Amino acid sequence: MLIVMDKGVTDREIRAVIEKIERMGFKANPVPGAQRIAIGITGNQNPLDPEEFESMPGVKEAIRVTKPYKLVGREMKSEDTVFSVRGRPVGDKPLAVIAGPCAVESEDQALAIAEIVAKAGGNFFRGGAYKPRTSPYSFQGLGEPGLKILAKVRERTGLPIVTEAMDPEGVALVEEYADVIQIGARNMQNYSLLKRVGKSKLPVFLKRGISATMDELLMSAEYVASEVNYRIMLCERGVRTFADHARNTLDLSVVPAVKHLSHLPILVDPSHGTGRRDRVAPLARAAVAVGADGIMVEVHHQPEKALSDGPQALYPEQFESLVREIRALAPLVGRTF
Ligand code: PEP
Ligand code: MN
Repeated sequence: MLIVMDKGVTDREIRAVIEKIERMGFKANPVPGAQRIAIGITGNQNPLDPEEFESMPGVKEAIRVTKPYKLVGREMKSEDTVFSVRGRPVGDKPLAVIAGPCAVESEDQALAIAEIVAKAGGNFFRGGAYKPRTSPYSFQGLGEPGLKILAKVRERTGLPIVTEAMDPEGVALVEEYADVIQIGARNMQNYSLLKRVGKSKLPVFLKRGISATMDELLMSAEYVASEVNYRIMLCERGVRTFADHARNTLDLSVVPAVKHLSHLPILVDPSHGTGRRDRVAPLARAAVAVGADGIMVEVHHQPEKALSDGPQALYPEQFESLVREIRALAPLVGRTF
């Protein structure tokens, strides 16, 4: 249930509502928003009676929330979630372009690619220090030394860092060095990890699971939000289907579907979505056209030598030309870049 307060509500009236919710054994979640003061109730197994709250001073109305995801749904918060990471807005008109290698391989590699990303106009740097690999014998990432390299990239370029945490125990270290915590597709339903990043002060970049439905993605986001972290970016990165012409099937139709149901920003990763560099730019353009709040793409200065995901890494000039295209496309769909 969502309790919407009157415009001139006092702190005392708000406190009384929160105390009532807590006395009932439920959780009171302040719902951030510029337009109104609202409190979301979670934790109740059965529907609550609106009258219980509507009779309290300062309460405008009590609205039943019908969807299983409460805090991330538009029923609770109708306006888009907008936040900024080191001054870069997310979810607002400006598009986010997150680019970098699949994995941090060395300081020279990361700095070389970061320079390309920054110069071309990318506004976030990505790179994994912990890599979830299909084979235990594949390169697993540099670990903490990789995080230190990422911090150096930020120092040099000013680009905020997006990097993956693979388990709850690893989150603290990622928090020390990064600006956004990525939750990989394989971990979308790792609930202890979701709860842990829900307690983080850093925004969360939540990738859709390989065979997850939209509802499952939104429920995973709900785990993060229910721990009070509302700064979530969703990411469509392709799902497993019978189609074998691409690594995954990039489900661009999920973008407007998510936008309809949720106030959270959603980005698209056409690199993992296609697995082939010649498909990345067309689908990145399509992602912008369909209303995504940004893209995440893999870029490498020497893709042939990449320790992971080389075949889908854009060459520097391909990334530069993609950024130019996005810049031209953005105003056509009411965005800026
Ligand atoms: C990645 O971003 O490098 C990655 C491993 O992505 P995903 O979790 O979507 O496979
Ligand atoms: Mn990758």
